[in-house]
Amino acid sequence: MRMTQLLAPTLRENPADAEVVSHQLLVRAGYIRRLANGVYNYLPLMWRVLRKVEQIVREEMDRAGAQELLMPILQPAEVWQASGRWDVYGELMMRVKDRHGREYGLAPTAEEVITDIATKEVRSYRQLPVNLYQIQTKYRDEIRPRFGLLRGREFIMKDAYSFHSSQDCLDREYQNMAETYTRIFERCGLETRQVRSDSGAIGGSVSHEYMVLTRIAPGEQESGENDVFFCDSCDYAANAERAESILPEANTTGDHAESTVLDTPNASTIEALERKFQLRPETILKTLIYIIDEKMPVMALIRGDLAVEEIKLLNAFAGNEIRMATEEEIIELIGDVKGYVGPYNLRAETLQKLKIIADRSVSGLKNFVMAINERGKHLVGANWGDAHLHEPQIKDADLRLAKIGDACAECKTGKLDMTRGIEVGNIFQLGTKYSGSMNATYTDEDGSEKPFIMGCYGIGVSRTAAAAIERFHDKAGIIWPMAIAPYQVIVVPVNVTDDTQMTLAQRLYDQLRTAGVEVVMDDRDERAGVKFKDADLIGFPIRITAGKKAAEGLLEVKLRDQDQAMDLPEAEVLAFVQRQIQEWRPALKDPQPAAV
Ligand code: ATP
Ligand code: MG
Repeated sequence: MRMTQLLAPTLRENPADAEVVSHQLLVRAGYIRRLANGVYNYLPLMWRVLRKVEQIVREEMDRAGAQELLMPILQPAEVWQASGRWDVYGELMMRVKDRHGREYGLAPTAEEVITDIATKEVRSYRQLPVNLYQIQTKYRDEIRPRFGLLRGREFIMKDAYSFHSSQDCLDREYQNMAETYTRIFERCGLETRQVRSDSGAIGGSVSHEYMVLTRIAPGEQESGENDVFFCDSCDYAANAERAESILPEANTTGDHAESTVLDTPNASTIEALERKFQLRPETILKTLIYIIDEKMPVMALIRGDLAVEEIKLLNAFAGNEIRMATEEEIIELIGDVKGYVGPYNLRAETLQKLKIIADRSVSGLKNFVMAINERGKHLVGANWGDAHLHEPQIKDADLRLAKIGDACAECKTGKLDMTRGIEVGNIFQLGTKYSGSMNATYTDEDGSEKPFIMGCYGIGVSRTAAAAIERFHDKAGIIWPMAIAPYQVIVVPVNVTDDTQMTLAQRLYDQLRTAGVEVVMDDRDERAGVKFKDADLIGFPIRITAGKKAAEGLLEVKLRDQDQAMDLPEAEVLAFVQRQIQEWRPALKDPQPAAV
């Protein structure tokens, strides 16, 4: 490809609306253009990158025994009604009507459609297991599309779905997919952490996310959207929504042995109680009121020096949505005592509505401090079992948000550290969630009808490409991993009016192309500085320059990720380039053919 022909409109400035580096560079280097909020045109360079990521995904999924198919983006409401998700999936699904008034959703995912296929086409246990995947555009009407391709409204996803007749078989395929995912990201040049995750709206029990951990240069905007805790000594890693750690030790016996009501005016926070009344946070029973699914009020109890992770609380009630109760709701439920709420002396009707749940940390409290639903007062020297103190219905739950420096619950010796991560992939054990609700069954060996046991496995193809930029870039631009670079090489004649330089550059360009190397020739009549800037910005892994030394048959070869350049005789350049491409491939051991 000649640069004079290539549609790669590079810009000098970062676009004003781009907050993160991948978004900035993709626009500036001429890869994408915004069409609508969260909707982008993939220009030729981008499309080459995406096709490369897709191809890696495809090769590895095929190698793992999965079969590619393609399902429509337009999904009739009926399949979603069959699973019951038409009503609960919410605003994330773009909905459209056809000319006859029939309703459709634009595929945010495809559990329903694939389960529909399995119901109709997979009749017998003999056809199991089967893993079907597609690489297809998805639409999600995200509340806050942002960060360019990291969170778009229209994006490319690989989604796979497996069907099994036993949990054992699903476990094996889950493991097979876990290994496949690691290989896929490695081949894209990305190291990932497999992280236990919350399975969110998709449901199911076991699930993992694949996170690209982003290193953040000083002064740069953080682009990872998820807090990930990881152990500094073992390989434990988990999303903050789920991370566990050992309860930090503390002296949890309060300083008042007698149970007494203390006047605590204007001290409705733990911090104020500590500052004004010298009450130690680790001896205070912290009480928070939440509303789950807009209908269930929940009182959560935790030690005063610790914080509640809302998603853990939500999961304890298998809910979909959680928020803190408003002041009005607290008034109606308990009384006008915001900031002084506790599991104490509540009205019978309140107790009927309210669920009280306690984190593990509170059972060790003695002579503790608590609010008693009276403004400006706290009880000190309280103990579980005291009169008027309500026992939680759910005790010893894990509601606690892990903190940096907590001891690792897995190895017990390491400490947790936190980083930001970009979720590029996701694997779930769905079990019979969809086959159950959609009545999707097969005939088992003994002639009985049984629901499929299912797994599902997603990879954000476009997000993976953007994550690679978040991970690999410098001030000058993108530093593509060789495997997903749009082109491997750029050949730059410094002065296109110099015959010697042009002839040498042209000869090399032809030679590389004939050898199957993906190469761009910068044949623009521009200053060398401009060409080098664009080459760095676009991120070609190898730059070959025909300059002053062309007369001696020498070319300057520079790798994008290294500072030094070197001169090579023309005859050695092709072999050098081929070696770079070959050797770049990460050392992956070939797995056994998959069992599927
Ligand atoms: P998130 O938590 O980031 O919203 P998700 O967990 O809802 O994503 P999945 O349903 O697991 O997403 O989709 C599989 C993969 O698709 C994700 O791991 C991610 O890489 C990608 N993905 C999801 N939403 C988007 C989006 N809005 N833009 C780009 N890629 C996305
Ligand atoms: Mg996910």
